Amino acid sequence: MIKSVGFIGWRGMVGSVLINRMIIKNDFSKIIPTFFSTSQVGNDGPIINNVIFRNLKNAYDINLLSEMDIIITCQGSMYTELTYSKLRQNGWSGYWIDASSSLRMNKDALIVLDPVNSSLINNSLNKGIKTFVGGNCTVSLMLMALGGLFEKKLIEWISVSTYQAASGAGANYIMELLKQMGFLYNSVSKYLSNQSFSILDIDKKITESINKKNFPLKNFSVPLAASVIPWIDAKMENGQTREEWKGQKETNKILGLDKESHQIIIDGICVRISSIRCHSQVFTIKLKRNISLENIEEIISHHNKWVKVIPNDIEATLLKLTPSSVTGTLNIPIGRLRKLNIGSKYLSAFTVGDQLLWGAAEPLRRMLNFLIDL
Ligand code: NAP
Repeated sequence: MIKSVGFIGWRGMVGSVLINRMIIKNDFSKIIPTFFSTSQVGNDGPIINNVIFRNLKNAYDINLLSEMDIIITCQGSMYTELTYSKLRQNGWSGYWIDASSSLRMNKDALIVLDPVNSSLINNSLNKGIKTFVGGNCTVSLMLMALGGLFEKKLIEWISVSTYQAASGAGANYIMELLKQMGFLYNSVSKYLSNQSFSILDIDKKITESINKKNFPLKNFSVPLAASVIPWIDAKMENGQTREEWKGQKETNKILGLDKESHQIIIDGICVRISSIRCHSQVFTIKLKRNISLENIEEIISHHNKWVKVIPNDIEATLLKLTPSSVTGTLNIPIGRLRKLNIGSKYLSAFTVGDQLLWGAAEPLRRMLNFLIDL
């Protein structure tokens, strides 16, 4: 029977990318959708295949939500925390698919990334698991890039540095970044075409602007344009940020490595940068054994059809290994692959992925299709 699917958070960053992908893949022809909102109840919803979905429903109406076979939410953790347990307590036994981190570590929830853990997804469905959550964006992108090395159990540990796009924080943050960029540009634009104007004077004007009281800082709280922010999410007791903590915890859960003794060690520093979309990551990887670079490249590129090994040269790197070349695609390029001077088991790599596609919406869309096909 055709399934009813409730959508919450469809107008945010992740949600709107999800809806676009579902339109492209003709997924709406397989379901009966209902659109909810936390802030726009009664207004018009999205236009899908030239049809406007009118009269948005109240995303906090537990009875209405309980009528859905499947709920897919890209609204965020706060919404999940306010709604999920009430729905389950109300006796709802439908499938819950979630982009937020709130339920990821629950023992009754699976983190989904089917090119990496489709067998765990199938086992969970057979066991009656009803809660499926997308992974943290950098974790999913790392697993898509290094899936082959994980699958062959070649990784002893990974040290990671991330370069995360503004859109990773949500729609309002991108707008603020653009306002910051515009503010800086406006402060110097009239000098840019004047060759006789000193670059140090321009630099001084930028510094003055960035420190002005009306510089747009409502969301990021500090400048991101012309700067970086080496902190993402809350502080954990051990000094990591929560974003950094997710690296090891979620990776091992996605891989089904539950026992502490079997876990792969992953740690590093997560940094927000001023790219609009796509997260990049630098890995230092300690391999369990010394294998050749050719072998490593072959293992990486055979894991899934989206990962592409980029030759370690300037032309290929500039053309194919940047956020601007990857944005809006499902490609997962990985390059700058080489053995480090530290020793033959130490590998470096740089990867980029669209954190709104493989890092968020695509695993959810594919999970929905697992459920539609049940
Ligand atoms: P978002 O863009 O802030 O959207 C979330 C909700 O905010 C929207 O559904 C909308 O809800 C409301 N909203 C308020 N102002 C808005 C505006 N100007 N434009 C659009 N929507 C606006 O959040 P998100 O980045 O999609 O993240 C949703 C969840 O996915 C979070 O839990 C996040 O941690 C997770 N996630 C995000 C990413 C990413 O790269 N962004 C990656 C992986 C996971 P109403 O329509 O109900 O008002």
